[in-house]
Amino acid sequence: MKMIPYGRQDISEDDIQAVANVLRSDYLTQGPVVPAFEKSVKDYCGAKFAVAVNSATSALHISCLALGVGPGDIVWTTPISFVASANCALYCGARIDFVDIDPLTYNMSMDCLSVKLEFAEKEGKLPKVIIPVHLAGQPCNMAAIHSMSERYGFKIIEDASHAIGGRYLDAPIGNGRYSDITVFSFHPVKIITTGEGGMALTNDPEIANKLVRLRSHGITRVQEEMTHITDGPWYYQQLELGFNYRMTDIQAALGLSQIKRLDEFVKKRRKIADRYNKYFADLWVTTPFEAPDSYSATHLYIVRLKLNEIKFSQKDIFEWLRSCGIQVNLHYIPIYRHPYYEKMGYIKKDYPQAEAYYAQAMSLPVYPALSDLQQEEVVQRMNTPIGFQTLF
Ligand SMILES: *Cc1c(COP(=O)(O)O)cnc(C)c1O
Repeated sequence: MKMIPYGRQDISEDDIQAVANVLRSDYLTQGPVVPAFEKSVKDYCGAKFAVAVNSATSALHISCLALGVGPGDIVWTTPISFVASANCALYCGARIDFVDIDPLTYNMSMDCLSVKLEFAEKEGKLPKVIIPVHLAGQPCNMAAIHSMSERYGFKIIEDASHAIGGRYLDAPIGNGRYSDITVFSFHPVKIITTGEGGMALTNDPEIANKLVRLRSHGITRVQEEMTHITDGPWYYQQLELGFNYRMTDIQAALGLSQIKRLDEFVKKRRKIADRYNKYFADLWVTTPFEAPDSYSATHLYIVRLKLNEIKFSQKDIFEWLRSCGIQVNLHYIPIYRHPYYEKMGYIKKDYPQAEAYYAQAMSLPVYPALSDLQQEEVVQRMNTPIGFQTLF
């Protein structure tokens, strides 16, 4: 049986050629292709600086560090995200807390955020950084978060791992109008891929320099950043404790080739979502919400099962679809439910909307190469209660 995954990469002959060209060139890493890829992403998004790294996880880590997150600080994010959105704060020795989600968008709730900020201010426990996540590509209400950041003085990292190619208020996500740093992921299931890879975008030259240093051991080769006049042409200085989070030219070549098709990828994803929306209008699922001020990159197509209308459980439906070769998935297990986080004392009842979401959510296949026939198969399986009956 041929599997239909929930997401997968789309690789062209041109992509393969671009990678092969790097393999035949002088530089496999730290050559000219990484800066070329950075330029293409920042130009696409309308940001001033872009720093390529080996994953979005690395980008989130050094973004937190570049904004000064450290022991004693608190960072807030949404519980409905990949664990990396929270882990980055812990890497820095900070504490993480979660803001419950909005029942319509499944992104961080602006009402919960504003109430939580009021409380935190009274208790003197305001977050240093907030990390909104554009779940499935649907942008968060960044204008609202930005205005709260001015009132309460926190910094903002947009985890836009799902969102490259999407738009908010008629401008590309990543332009940095409402945040300090935006992070993209280029993992193969994401919108465009470099195999593994990520990028941090900012409009602040100091943050950009810091990101550049942190991705490569904390080393600088820039005289103005050094503590004294250079010892000679070989000289560099390590100014802080950084990492090897560099992207290779092999990866960047794939990204540079992929970004040419970014708009086409997003269009295809959105077309698939539109078709699902039509097919499912009367089915026992809630289809995704898209805010009128946004253009979602549609990394995921998440439905919520109306379990009171059917006689099957969420688990039954997952098992049934998977038994048909349709690799539905659940994005995401609320982060506080993972044993590592549970130990830190988070309690489920603080996040009623995330809990309700987790009990009903399901991601259906959406990726550019999903054929009409494959999509029809997914729809047919979803539409065949008889299938359930024969199975159960
Ligand atoms: C995929 C993902 C990440 C991590 O991306 P990597 O490039 O795999 O490190 C972080 N946050 C979110 C929301 C993601 O979906």
